[in-house]
Amino acid sequence: MNNGLLLYCRRGFEKECAGEIDQLASAQEVYGYCVVKDNSGYVNYITPDLAQADKLAKHIAFMKLVFARQMIVVVAKLSDLPSDDRVSAILEQSECMPLCGDIRVETPDTNEAKELLGFCRKFTVPLRGALRKNGTLTKKEHSKKPVLHLMMLDSGNGYLGYSYPENSSPNFMGISRLKFPSDAPSRSTLKLEEAILLFLPKDTIEQRMHSGMTGVDLGACPGGWTYQLVRRGLFVSAIDNGPMAQSLMDTGQVTHFMEDGFKFKPEKTVDWMICDMVEKPIMVADLMSDWLIKDWCRATIFNLKLPMKKRFVEVYKCLELIESKLKKAGLSYNLQCKHLYHDREEVTVSIEIHNHK
Ligand code: SAM
Repeated sequence: MNNGLLLYCRRGFEKECAGEIDQLASAQEVYGYCVVKDNSGYVNYITPDLAQADKLAKHIAFMKLVFARQMIVVVAKLSDLPSDDRVSAILEQSECMPLCGDIRVETPDTNEAKELLGFCRKFTVPLRGALRKNGTLTKKEHSKKPVLHLMMLDSGNGYLGYSYPENSSPNFMGISRLKFPSDAPSRSTLKLEEAILLFLPKDTIEQRMHSGMTGVDLGACPGGWTYQLVRRGLFVSAIDNGPMAQSLMDTGQVTHFMEDGFKFKPEKTVDWMICDMVEKPIMVADLMSDWLIKDWCRATIFNLKLPMKKRFVEVYKCLELIESKLKKAGLSYNLQCKHLYHDREEVTVSIEIHNHK
């Protein structure tokens, strides 16, 4: 048994992930409970039965979950798999699985669990073969069918389940792995790259962020975020008292203003405003809303740095403030917020206005 949802999250953020699923499941009139182990990198939300877990996986929009990296329906909890024949023991539990088009044998994102990844890789081969033979997996990979997940805690224990490809992360372990561009001025460039890839899907990115557009980067130094806009051909005003990387200034696409990001005002509406200033999240949320309401930018991606305590409450307080201000101003918008793989004590928000002046 043990039906429910399995949610992957950053290690140390289990309580936030649990608080969020509790809230969203209740809104769907599913009343379960979370099993949370600190620093485990996942949360198990137990539902009364499989049908209710399946309902949640279909009706809770994965992109609405800030802290979850992956959402899986748990079909069975696997305990003490026999080391001489784990495959048969898993097949026995696969009866309630839907027909799946792909398989991922994963671990939670913790240092201890990751030591198992070699085992997971090797084990995938015989397991895939056996699941194809018993009809749980399609003979060939099928990207539209559910993905079968086996999440291993050690070589004998784990969870068996599935995710819906249209409402989950396409990434192994829910992690967006990106290569650090060697000419970028700081590693935090990966945060914005991950955000752009997640929030602006491939088929719309060309139209939404392209060469010739304009941008403002608040708290820009040394320029990792500016780098992402520059490489996409945007002209950027970089706001920060610190120094910008010379390589970026040499592109001719960047103008550096040594000013306070809370006071800077663009001469004209810009296409994108990005912000990575280390400031109280509620102050940043307020500033971002003002930029959109005053029509200083058409879209924004920014970070909310989280406090040590009450991180969940603080994120939702900021999102509520933004939404109430935008609604009051009559703006129609798309707001997305995620705790990205490259984020640490922060979450990333993207807002695009549909009916700007
Ligand atoms: N996104 C940058 C990158 O990828 O290289 C890193 C930004 S760093 C985390 C935060 C920056 O915000 C610092 O350079 C700091 O000087 C700047 N900052 C903080 N408060 C600011 C303010 N009120 N106005 C302008 N810049 C500010």
